[in-house]
Amino acid sequence: MPHLYSINPFLGSSRFLPFVARFSHKIMARWPVDGTFAVTIDDGPCPGTTEAVLDALGRVGINACFFLTGNAARRNSRLVRLIAEKGHAIGSHGMTHRRLPLLAGRETAGEIRDSIALLQDITGKPVRFFRPPYGWFTRSMLEELPETTSLMLWSNMPGDFMKSMRPELLITRLQFTLRSGDILVLHEQPGRVDMTSRALAALPEIAREKDLSVASFIEERGGAL
Ligand SMILES: [Zn+2]
Repeated sequence: MPHLYSINPFLGSSRFLPFVARFSHKIMARWPVDGTFAVTIDDGPCPGTTEAVLDALGRVGINACFFLTGNAARRNSRLVRLIAEKGHAIGSHGMTHRRLPLLAGRETAGEIRDSIALLQDITGKPVRFFRPPYGWFTRSMLEELPETTSLMLWSNMPGDFMKSMRPELLITRLQFTLRSGDILVLHEQPGRVDMTSRALAALPEIAREKDLSVASFIEERGGAL
């Protein structure tokens, strides 16, 4: 059993883990630009859901990063290309969305390498970010990442995946919790896309009230994405 680390960004525990400190240049748990927050969408692509999320992002002019699983990307390569065509960043979320530290080492490495290679094949662009499913990662996973790929965690997870979640509560949570430097994570959820769309529609007003702007993955990487 490898040493397992799952950073809880709310506790800031990462600072106290020696190897995490050594790899800090490879780990993003906060967005590095003051006065901004980044929007990330996990667990796609999914027919019907991806298009609706893209429409919602387009209506409010938000640039996001989609963390896609390789198996779903392979089945829905048209949606992967659509995300890229709309100017959004694409990160890897592994091949199968399993807890990677629990797999055999070779299998874990394959989840990282294969998913990144697949996404790069589909879009023709490098994959700059990897998000481990459930935030579980190990030192060897960090070592497995390509030089130009960072491990991106999150700092704001308002719980859109909870069974009891409703659009009004999700928006209220965002109003209370959104902060400068946040990496916000929402999810592609078949059957609940209306909730995601309403939350995205509310973001510009919430940002205005807090004097924040939405980070752009394009600007941050100088157009390289
Ligand atoms: Zn996920």
